[in-house]
Amino acid sequence: MDCPKCSVELVQHDDDQVSLQRCGQCGGIWIDVADLNRVLLRHNLSGLEKLGGKPNLDEIAGQCPQCQIDLVVVEGGPRRALRYDTCESCGGIWLEQGLGGGETSEAMVAGIVAFYKRFSSAAA
Ligand SMILES: [Zn+2]
Ligand SMILES: [Zn+2]
Repeated sequence: MDCPKCSVELVQHDDDQVSLQRCGQCGGIWIDVADLNRVLLRHNLSGLEKLGGKPNLDEIAGQCPQCQIDLVVVEGGPRRALRYDTCESCGGIWLEQGLGGGETSEAMVAGIVAFYKRFSSAAA
């Protein structure tokens, strides 16, 4: 699979709990919705569909690396300043830059959890 932004091959990172793909160029992360929900629940967050966020159909996102259809931008967090992209077909999630930049799956999971904690916090 290629990065939706850079069109370079994503690198697979697996551990016993979660499977992620990361772009070595932009640092974006691709994760299946099932894996993401497992990560969220294990860190005492609600499942993705309960974390709030609003689709913004005017925003341009890349294409799903699996389905080759346009991703949908979902905005949330304080002043709706945070976003992730999701595929309506396969449910995959694309998270851009700013997740902490770690290259181990542990660091990536920590970045994802921190992101969704902010994402689900009430609008300020
Ligand atoms: Zn990239
Ligand atoms: Zn897809």
